[in-house]
Amino acid sequence: MSKIEINILGTTAGAPTKERAHATIHLVYDDANRFCCLFDCGENAQRQLMLAGLSIMKLNDIFITHWHGDHCLGLGGLKDTLAFEGREHPITIFSPEPRRAKKSLGFTHSAHKFKVISRRVPAKGKKIKTLLKNKRFDIVSIPVEHGVPAVAYALMEKDKSFIDKEKARKVGLPEEHEVYRELKERGKAIHNGKEIFFDDIASTEKGKKIVYSGDTEICDSIKELAKCADLLIQDCTYFTENPGEKNISTLLCRRRLN
Ligand SMILES: [Zn+2]
Repeated sequence: MSKIEINILGTTAGAPTKERAHATIHLVYDDANRFCCLFDCGENAQRQLMLAGLSIMKLNDIFITHWHGDHCLGLGGLKDTLAFEGREHPITIFSPEPRRAKKSLGFTHSAHKFKVISRRVPAKGKKIKTLLKNKRFDIVSIPVEHGVPAVAYALMEKDKSFIDKEKARKVGLPEEHEVYRELKERGKAIHNGKEIFFDDIASTEKGKKIVYSGDTEICDSIKELAKCADLLIQDCTYFTENPGEKNISTLLCRRRLN
Protein backbone atom coordinates (compact mmCIF):
# COMPACT_ATOMS: atom_id res chain seq x y z
CA MET A 1 0.00 0.00 0.00
CA SER A 2 1.08 3.56 -0.53
CA LYS A 3 1.84 5.85 2.33
CA ILE A 4 -0.76 8.36 3.49
CA GLU A 5 0.68 11.25 5.47
CA ILE A 6 -1.54 13.68 7.32
CA ASN A 7 -0.46 16.90 8.95
CA ILE A 8 -3.00 18.76 11.04
CA LEU A 9 -1.92 22.38 10.75
CA GLY A 10 -4.66 24.02 12.78
CA THR A 11 -6.64 22.84 15.78
CA THR A 12 -8.05 25.92 17.39
CA ALA A 13 -11.56 25.96 15.89
CA GLY A 14 -13.41 29.32 16.08
CA ALA A 15 -10.67 31.73 17.21
CA PRO A 16 -6.89 31.40 16.97
CA THR A 17 -4.56 31.44 19.95
CA LYS A 18 -0.87 32.31 20.18
CA GLU A 19 0.03 28.68 19.70
CA ARG A 20 -2.75 27.33 17.53
CA ALA A 21 -4.17 28.15 14.12
CA HIS A 22 -7.49 27.54 12.38
CA ALA A 23 -8.45 24.25 10.74
CA THR A 24 -6.20 23.20 7.88
CA ILE A 25 -5.55 19.52 7.21
CA HIS A 26 -2.79 18.58 4.78
CA LEU A 27 -2.95 15.11 3.23
CA VAL A 28 -0.44 13.45 0.94
CA TYR A 29 -1.09 10.19 -0.86
CA ASP A 30 2.46 9.24 -1.62
CA ASP A 31 3.05 6.98 -4.59
CA ALA A 32 4.29 7.37 -8.14
CA ASN A 33 1.40 9.77 -8.85
CA ARG A 34 1.76 11.80 -5.67
CA PHE A 35 -1.51 13.48 -4.65
CA CYS A 36 -1.60 16.34 -2.21
CA CYS A 37 -4.61 18.25 -0.89
CA LEU A 38 -5.96 20.44 1.89
CA PHE A 39 -9.14 19.88 3.80
CA ASP A 40 -10.21 23.38 4.85
CA CYS A 41 -7.94 26.38 4.58
CA GLY A 42 -7.85 28.44 7.76
CA GLU A 43 -6.17 31.85 8.04
CA ASN A 44 -2.46 31.81 7.32
CA ALA A 45 -2.65 28.30 5.90
CA GLN A 46 0.31 28.97 3.61
CA ARG A 47 2.47 29.92 6.59
CA GLN A 48 1.36 26.88 8.56
CA LEU A 49 2.41 24.75 5.59
CA MET A 50 5.82 26.42 5.51
CA LEU A 51 6.31 25.99 9.26
CA ALA A 52 5.55 22.28 8.86
CA GLY A 53 8.07 22.00 6.01
CA LEU A 54 5.39 21.24 3.43
CA SER A 55 5.38 22.53 -0.12
CA ILE A 56 2.54 24.85 -1.08
CA MET A 57 3.38 24.39 -4.77
CA LYS A 58 2.55 20.68 -4.79
CA LEU A 59 -1.06 21.13 -3.75
CA ASN A 60 -3.55 19.56 -6.15
CA ASP A 61 -6.95 20.27 -4.63
CA ILE A 62 -8.61 22.04 -1.71
CA PHE A 63 -11.75 20.69 -0.06
CA ILE A 64 -13.72 23.25 1.99
CA THR A 65 -16.27 21.85 4.47
CA HIS A 66 -18.25 25.11 4.81
CA TRP A 67 -17.85 28.84 4.53
CA HIS A 68 -17.45 29.86 8.16
CA GLY A 69 -14.34 32.05 8.32
CA ASP A 70 -12.27 29.68 10.43
CA HIS A 71 -12.43 27.09 7.64
CA CYS A 72 -11.75 29.21 4.57
CA LEU A 73 -10.12 32.60 5.25
CA GLY A 74 -6.72 31.25 4.27
CA LEU A 75 -7.71 30.86 0.63
CA GLY A 76 -6.92 34.45 -0.42
CA GLY A 77 -3.48 34.48 1.19
CA LEU A 78 -2.65 31.05 -0.16
CA LYS A 79 -3.64 32.09 -3.68
CA ASP A 80 -1.49 35.25 -3.50
CA THR A 81 1.52 33.31 -2.23
CA LEU A 82 1.10 30.72 -4.99
CA ALA A 83 1.01 33.61 -7.48
CA PHE A 84 4.23 35.13 -6.00
CA GLU A 85 5.89 31.73 -6.26
CA GLY A 86 4.94 31.50 -9.94
CA ARG A 87 2.46 28.66 -9.90
CA GLU A 88 1.05 27.86 -13.31
CA HIS A 89 -0.90 24.64 -12.73
CA PRO A 90 -4.62 25.00 -12.04
CA ILE A 91 -5.92 24.41 -8.54
CA THR A 92 -9.38 23.05 -7.80
CA ILE A 93 -11.51 24.12 -4.87
CA PHE A 94 -14.35 21.78 -3.92
CA SER A 95 -17.02 23.28 -1.67
CA PRO A 96 -20.70 23.72 -1.00
CA GLU A 97 -21.80 27.16 -2.32
CA PRO A 98 -18.97 27.34 -4.89
CA ARG A 99 -19.81 30.96 -5.78
CA ARG A 100 -18.24 31.85 -2.43
CA ALA A 101 -14.89 30.50 -3.65
CA LYS A 102 -14.91 33.05 -6.44
CA LYS A 103 -15.98 35.83 -4.06
CA SER A 104 -13.41 34.98 -1.42
CA LEU A 105 -10.62 35.05 -4.00
CA GLY A 106 -11.87 38.09 -5.85
CA PHE A 107 -11.91 40.92 -3.32
CA THR A 108 -8.24 41.85 -3.61
CA HIS A 109 -6.14 42.96 -6.58
CA SER A 110 -3.93 40.08 -7.50
CA ALA A 111 -2.43 38.71 -10.65
CA HIS A 112 -2.05 35.00 -10.94
CA LYS A 113 -1.26 32.88 -13.96
CA PHE A 114 -2.91 29.72 -12.74
CA LYS A 115 -6.55 28.85 -13.13
CA VAL A 116 -8.77 28.38 -10.07
CA ILE A 117 -11.45 25.79 -10.76
CA SER A 118 -14.45 25.76 -8.44
CA ARG A 119 -16.49 22.57 -8.04
CA ARG A 120 -19.86 22.27 -6.31
CA VAL A 121 -20.22 19.74 -3.50
CA PRO A 122 -23.86 18.85 -2.71
CA ALA A 123 -24.88 20.05 0.76
CA LYS A 124 -28.44 18.73 0.79
CA GLY A 125 -29.70 15.20 1.28
CA LYS A 126 -28.01 12.22 2.86
CA LYS A 127 -26.19 10.63 -0.03
CA ILE A 128 -22.49 10.05 -0.27
CA LYS A 129 -21.16 11.71 -3.43
CA THR A 130 -17.96 10.71 -5.22
CA LEU A 131 -16.00 13.84 -6.12
CA LEU A 132 -12.73 12.39 -7.30
CA LYS A 133 -12.02 8.89 -8.50
CA ASN A 134 -8.87 7.13 -9.65
CA LYS A 135 -7.28 3.69 -9.48
CA ARG A 136 -5.85 4.28 -5.99
CA PHE A 137 -8.61 6.03 -4.04
CA ASP A 138 -11.89 7.94 -4.11
CA ILE A 139 -12.61 11.20 -2.36
CA VAL A 140 -16.25 11.44 -1.33
CA SER A 141 -18.48 13.87 0.55
CA ILE A 142 -21.70 13.81 2.54
CA PRO A 143 -23.91 16.72 3.67
CA VAL A 144 -23.81 17.34 7.43
CA GLU A 145 -25.80 19.54 9.83
CA HIS A 146 -24.26 22.85 10.78
CA GLY A 147 -26.83 25.62 10.25
CA VAL A 148 -25.11 26.60 6.98
CA PRO A 149 -24.45 24.39 3.94
CA ALA A 150 -21.73 22.02 5.14
CA VAL A 151 -20.18 18.69 4.20
CA ALA A 152 -17.72 16.14 5.51
CA TYR A 153 -15.12 14.40 3.34
CA ALA A 154 -13.46 11.02 3.20
CA LEU A 155 -10.52 9.62 1.30
CA MET A 156 -11.25 5.95 0.66
CA GLU A 157 -8.29 3.95 -0.52
CA LYS A 158 -9.09 0.95 -2.70
CA ASP A 159 -8.36 -2.56 -1.52
CA LYS A 160 -5.24 -3.91 -3.15
CA SER A 161 -4.64 -7.49 -4.29
CA PHE A 162 -1.06 -8.67 -4.29
CA ILE A 163 0.75 -11.92 -4.94
CA ASP A 164 1.11 -13.84 -1.70
CA LYS A 165 4.43 -15.67 -1.88
CA GLU A 166 3.32 -18.33 0.60
CA LYS A 167 0.22 -19.13 -1.46
CA ALA A 168 2.30 -19.14 -4.64
CA ARG A 169 4.73 -21.59 -3.08
CA LYS A 170 1.88 -23.89 -2.08
CA VAL A 171 0.65 -24.18 -5.65
CA GLY A 172 4.18 -24.96 -6.80
CA LEU A 173 5.32 -21.64 -8.25
CA PRO A 174 8.97 -20.65 -7.93
CA GLU A 175 10.05 -17.46 -6.13
CA GLU A 176 10.50 -15.53 -9.37
CA HIS A 177 9.14 -16.48 -12.76
CA GLU A 178 7.75 -15.00 -15.94
CA VAL A 179 4.39 -16.61 -15.08
CA TYR A 180 3.64 -13.89 -12.48
CA ARG A 181 3.39 -11.23 -15.17
CA GLU A 182 0.88 -13.34 -17.07
CA LEU A 183 -1.13 -13.99 -13.91
CA LYS A 184 -1.32 -10.24 -13.22
CA GLU A 185 -2.26 -9.35 -16.78
CA ARG A 186 -4.62 -12.19 -17.66
CA GLY A 187 -5.77 -13.41 -14.25
CA LYS A 188 -4.62 -16.95 -15.04
CA ALA A 189 -1.69 -18.84 -16.53
CA ILE A 190 -0.44 -22.35 -17.26
CA HIS A 191 2.62 -23.47 -15.32
CA ASN A 192 4.06 -26.98 -15.74
CA GLY A 193 0.81 -28.01 -17.45
CA LYS A 194 -1.33 -26.82 -14.55
CA GLU A 195 -3.80 -23.93 -14.79
CA ILE A 196 -3.32 -21.39 -12.01
CA PHE A 197 -5.61 -18.46 -11.27
CA PHE A 198 -4.43 -15.12 -9.87
CA ASP A 199 -7.02 -15.39 -7.09
CA ASP A 200 -5.44 -18.70 -5.98
CA ILE A 201 -2.19 -16.98 -5.09
CA ALA A 202 -3.44 -13.49 -4.15
CA SER A 203 -4.19 -11.84 -0.83
CA THR A 204 -6.00 -8.56 -0.29
CA GLU A 205 -4.87 -5.63 1.78
CA LYS A 206 -7.74 -3.44 2.92
CA GLY A 207 -7.55 0.20 1.84
CA LYS A 208 -7.43 2.95 4.45
CA LYS A 209 -10.32 5.31 5.11
CA ILE A 210 -9.64 8.83 6.36
CA VAL A 211 -12.61 11.04 7.33
CA TYR A 212 -12.58 14.76 8.00
CA SER A 213 -15.45 16.86 9.25
CA GLY A 214 -15.73 20.50 10.24
CA ASP A 215 -17.66 21.45 13.36
CA THR A 216 -20.88 19.68 12.44
CA GLU A 217 -23.62 18.67 14.84
CA ILE A 218 -23.45 14.97 15.52
CA CYS A 219 -25.77 13.59 12.87
CA ASP A 220 -26.47 10.33 11.06
CA SER A 221 -24.48 11.49 8.03
CA ILE A 222 -21.17 11.84 9.86
CA LYS A 223 -21.77 8.55 11.63
CA GLU A 224 -22.40 6.93 8.24
CA LEU A 225 -19.28 8.40 6.66
CA ALA A 226 -17.13 7.59 9.69
CA LYS A 227 -18.11 3.90 9.69
CA CYS A 228 -15.01 1.68 9.57
CA ALA A 229 -12.73 4.72 9.31
CA ASP A 230 -9.07 4.23 10.15
CA LEU A 231 -8.91 7.87 11.20
CA LEU A 232 -11.64 10.42 11.94
CA ILE A 233 -10.55 14.03 12.28
CA GLN A 234 -13.44 15.94 13.83
CA ASP A 235 -13.19 19.69 14.33
CA CYS A 236 -15.32 21.19 17.09
CA THR A 237 -15.61 24.61 18.65
CA TYR A 238 -17.74 23.93 21.72
CA PHE A 239 -16.62 21.04 23.81
CA THR A 240 -18.82 19.19 26.30
CA GLU A 241 -17.69 16.62 28.82
CA ASN A 242 -21.13 15.04 28.85
CA PRO A 243 -20.47 11.30 28.43
CA GLY A 244 -22.05 9.73 25.39
CA GLU A 245 -22.93 13.18 24.14
CA LYS A 246 -21.97 15.08 21.10
CA ASN A 247 -18.32 15.81 21.01
CA ILE A 248 -15.11 14.32 19.95
CA SER A 249 -12.43 16.91 20.58
CA THR A 250 -10.38 18.24 17.72
CA LEU A 251 -7.41 16.02 17.24
CA LEU A 252 -3.95 17.40 17.64
CA CYS A 253 -1.55 15.04 16.04
CA ARG A 254 0.75 14.20 13.22
CA ARG A 255 0.10 10.74 12.01
CA ARG A 256 1.47 8.51 9.30
CA LEU A 257 -0.60 5.64 7.97
CA ASN A 258 1.50 3.07 6.20
ZN1 LIG B 1 -18.54 26.21 11.37
